[in-house]
Formats: sequence, C-alpha cells, structure tokens
Amino acid sequence: MMRFTLPRDLYYGKGALEQLKNLEGKKAVLVLGGGSMKRFGFVDKVLEYLKEAGIETKLFENVEPDPSVETVMKGAEMMREFGPDWIIAMGGGSPIDAAKAMWVFYEYPDTTFEEIIQPFSFPTLRQKAKFLAIPSTSGTATEVTAFSVITDYAKGIKYPLADFNITPDVAIVDPELAETMPAKLTAHTGMDALTHAIEAYVSTLNSPFTDPLAIKAIQMVIDYLPDSYNGCMEAREQMHYAQCLAGQAFSNALLGIVHSMAHKTGAAFSTGHIPHGCANAIYLPYVIKYNAKDKVAEGRYAAIARSIGLVGTDAECVQKLCKKIDEYNVKLNIPKTLKEFGINEDEFKEKVAKIAELAVGDACTGSNPREITPKQMEQLLTCTYYGTEVDF
Ligand code: FE
Repeated sequence: MMRFTLPRDLYYGKGALEQLKNLEGKKAVLVLGGGSMKRFGFVDKVLEYLKEAGIETKLFENVEPDPSVETVMKGAEMMREFGPDWIIAMGGGSPIDAAKAMWVFYEYPDTTFEEIIQPFSFPTLRQKAKFLAIPSTSGTATEVTAFSVITDYAKGIKYPLADFNITPDVAIVDPELAETMPAKLTAHTGMDALTHAIEAYVSTLNSPFTDPLAIKAIQMVIDYLPDSYNGCMEAREQMHYAQCLAGQAFSNALLGIVHSMAHKTGAAFSTGHIPHGCANAIYLPYVIKYNAKDKVAEGRYAAIARSIGLVGTDAECVQKLCKKIDEYNVKLNIPKTLKEFGINEDEFKEKVAKIAELAVGDACTGSNPREITPKQMEQLLTCTYYGTEVDF
C-alpha cells in the first residue's frame, strides 16, 4: 500500500496572506528567520491579520540557516509555556523546517531526536496544535512536504526528518513574499525545484498521483525561471507555484542521487558552502547521464524531454534534456563543474572517496532509479569536478 499526503488547504495568489484573518483559534506562535520578513513588512501584516482573527500571537525569531537542535528545543519550550493551537512558520526553508521539529517536541516533550530520525516513525501530531506554513523562497517547498532538516552541530550530524505527520495543515503560497528574493537565490532555488520535479518523476516511487505534478512543475520552471531570474514578477509568481507543485510530487515520490550528492558535498570543502540549489544544478545533467543507462529511467527522462517540446529517440531526448539544463545553468550564471565553482583540486581528491561513501548512504539514494556503488559514485563526482563524460 502507498500513501499520498498533502496539506488540507492551500491558499495561493497575490495577497493570499490575508487568509490569516479567517483562521480559527486562540493562540499562535509565529516562527521566523533572520529578519527579511520583518524588514519587508510581512510580519506586521501577519500580526494584524491574526489580531483581526482574534488570535493572540507570540514571535519566535532569528531561526538560523541550517537550524540547530538547540533552536528547535528552545522553540518547543516556548511553545509549551505559551500553549498555542496554531504554529505558523514564515520565511525560507529554515524557519519552516525548524518549526516542524518544534511542533514534535511541543506535543511530545519526552521524545528525543534519536527516536524520530527513523523515517515515518513519528508519534501522532495535532494533539495540541495545527501547522500553517508561508514560504518566502521558491525552492524547498517545505510548506507542502513531509520533510525537515535539523543540524546537530555538536555531533556534526544533519537529521533529515521525514514523516507525513509534519506535512503542514495549511500552506499560504503568496508570490508577493517571493518578490523579495535576490537574483542569485532565485536561480539556485529555481534549479532546486527543477531537480525535485525531475528526481520525483524518475524515482522508483513515482506514481500516477505524483507524475502530473512533476511534469507540470518541470514545464513551468522551463517556461518561467530565466525571466524570474531577470526580475519579471509575473514569472516569479509562476515559479512560486511551480516549486510548490514540485514539492507535492517529491514529498510523495521522494528524490534521488542528485540530492544525495548535494547533501554530502554542501559543507564538505574548506573553500566554503556550496548552496543546495547550485549543487543540484551542477550535478543534475551528470546524474541524468548516469541514470539513463537504465532503460526504464531513460524512457522516463525521454518523457520529460518530450513534455517540454524536445523530439527524437529516447537516447536523443536524454541528450537534449541535458543540453537544455546546461543552457539554463549558463543563463543563470551557475558553473558547470565543481572546479569552476572554486573547489580546490587537491582537497577534492583527498575527500572524494569519503564523500562518495557518505552520498551512497544518504536517505535519497534509496529511491534513485539506478543503483550505485561507492566506487561509481566516486567516478561520478570526479566527472562533476572536471566536466568529463559520464560513460559508465
Ligand atoms: Fe532540494
């Protein structure tokens, strides 16, 4: 038996934030990131709408990028003292992910992180509060997914939490919030969304329920991402919806090794962090060529290519799809290789075997359409470093 889960309600469109006026409840905790939502006036708007709804609201601010276990526990404690019946998270992926984890420890104070890292093993939520998410970036789609990533800095471990219990109850997808994104973030998050949709479509867990969402998301990213990057706000609006569709697909079909590689290389090098979406954009064409050696996967990539108007045999379609992604990376100023990104060659060589082993063990590898050994992963990562052909 399979399961397909999405938020109960999704409000979208310019000004959709106003829906908060109609929220029914008594108390809310509003979880926020670094301050851009406040600067742009969205926090004041939310507080005004919630006041109109008769809801008393407390803020939990300054959730850091890559939120920590400590932040989660602090938020949960604040919630236990205040007793909200709504948890509202607004901003990029980080405050929403953190709030999802706070929710678990608010409702189950005696639970530990170790107990919930096993995927799909959460206790039943919604005993105390419901969850509403408002994204300000167009990529992670955490407003509709069953995932959250929390970092234990003391142990140096990222906990990827996964359970349909943390799929939000309500998502408000208001494109006005995404208008505040700088161009680089628009490029990276947009390619993250494209990767979500492509990996979900070829995942071993793809289904008739997730396929249409993935294909539509891919078509919309292809149509709108370059203009959105160049500042067209109509295109930015469509990208905000496209990433949300991609999220609905991958929350239910899961991902593949592009994400495994991005997760394990993101913080691996001393030259600095590789932004998640940028890493995905670099790896995507190489992974497509690797996976397409599997006939079933090749057919599915070809179907993606045909859905965006490319023609030819399956093999030709796969090549054209990769070329298309290369073209988009050029348009979006995303490098073609890790070398071009600025990763030091000696450091790469020294670390690649260990990274390959970790990437194979990543939670996203299980649903990849073609199996991969640590040795093959090392070869694949090496191709992404030098830009060499994937022929194995
Ligand atoms: Fe992603």
